[in-house]
Amino acid sequence: MQKDLDIFLELAEQLLVEENKQPVAKKISTSKLYQTLDLSLDEDGIVDNALIGNLKNIIKSTPKTASKSFFNQLFGGRISKATLGDLLAVMLNNSMYTYKVAGPQVGIEKQVLKNISKLAGYPENSDGTFAPGGSMSNMMALIMARDAKNEYIRLKGLTSKMIVYTSAESHYSIAKNAALTGIGREQVRLVNTNDKGEMQASHLETLIIEDLKNQHIPFFINATAGTTVLGAFDHIDTISSMSKKYKLWLHVDGAYCGGVIFSKKYKHLVNGLEHSDSFSINAHKMLGTPLSCSIIVTKHPEQLHHSFSNEADYLYQTDGDDFNLGKTSMQCGRRNDALKIWTLWKSVGTKGLEKIVDKQFEMAEVARKYIKKNKDYKLYSFDDSISVCFNYKDVDAKALCTSLYENSDLMVGFGSFKDEQFVRMVTINSVLEETDILAFFKTLEMHVNDKMLKISTS
Ligand SMILES: *Cc1c(COP(=O)(O)O)cnc(C)c1O
Repeated sequence: MQKDLDIFLELAEQLLVEENKQPVAKKISTSKLYQTLDLSLDEDGIVDNALIGNLKNIIKSTPKTASKSFFNQLFGGRISKATLGDLLAVMLNNSMYTYKVAGPQVGIEKQVLKNISKLAGYPENSDGTFAPGGSMSNMMALIMARDAKNEYIRLKGLTSKMIVYTSAESHYSIAKNAALTGIGREQVRLVNTNDKGEMQASHLETLIIEDLKNQHIPFFINATAGTTVLGAFDHIDTISSMSKKYKLWLHVDGAYCGGVIFSKKYKHLVNGLEHSDSFSINAHKMLGTPLSCSIIVTKHPEQLHHSFSNEADYLYQTDGDDFNLGKTSMQCGRRNDALKIWTLWKSVGTKGLEKIVDKQFEMAEVARKYIKKNKDYKLYSFDDSISVCFNYKDVDAKALCTSLYENSDLMVGFGSFKDEQFVRMVTINSVLEETDILAFFKTLEMHVNDKMLKISTS
């Protein structure tokens, strides 16, 4: 093992150098991928030196999500203490289903769940789990809500039309999960949003009343804390009064921006969270851990258990259910995703996580300020969002993002909202500083003026 650890260090160090030297890896077109890199799997293996050379080439060409030029996704950057925790989890290689096999790692997971529940304003006896990602966290919420409405569905299957409510700007996993769980995509009502992309509670109520009139069974509302494109926050307080009135399960999808629970300055964006039934947050987004680290908590621990437990004599042989986490998880064998967020949290404290979150809003503010004072730009996003959406000199957003990528200048994506398409720059890398944000705009402007506008006029 020692030898491979030495190889790992050598490769990791090369990666760190590459991130600085070539922050946007040169693109290999998909048609040339297998000719450019040796990705083949053959009868015979290769010696270490050849393997190292091969891995180095692969690392060189792999997109650098931790570089200062990556603004493409709702994750990015690297917070080293979280990476340390994840590397350790790989070495330990426990499976989180039983205390016998995971020992203190179970305690670590339970501690994180407890602290997240507390920050969400949930009661002491709340529970939760780590799901394979935000989409799966949302699915777990949907399943709990379905079973809470009708405890026999587990046994008999669905026999009536059960209705889901989510905003038109919410994540696609809500509709996909409806398909996967037998609810059906047609039973997903897309609630209108206002001009900031926030769910319109009045339209929500109209839809619920209509479904009740048609003898359908409304059961689930999904509110989003940070929509995928604009980073908008649905008003949980208002929506929760609707969920109470009609006895519907309220889930808050905080995969993107649920991290605001750590911030004194921004937690008002999830006012009313304590009235929800479940809440999910992706620590691999705002909290900066490596993928994946998705957490779901609920104030109905008995429901979590009812929906996800299964007896298995060959597995659960010692210790109480409280410490056998397989009784509340989606999977059987389960990776240890808790150690990375725990290691980070332990090292920087809750105040450190607050700084990580606040920094992202601060960098978004830097970006918005720059855009606002420069008349070549048009801004689409609002304050209190770390998705900075804009267009520059009316250049087509899709063409711009593709050109930036193909020329290895920047990694940034585009999005759309109500018929407008724009560049979406995500300031989620909390390691970046003001100079890095300003460098992003300089690079983009140079690219447009030297490479795009010149070509289009010639
Ligand atoms: C990213 C995201 C998800 C999905 O999370 P994954 O971990 O990618 O499955 C769900 N909802 C929102 C709002 C998101 O931003």
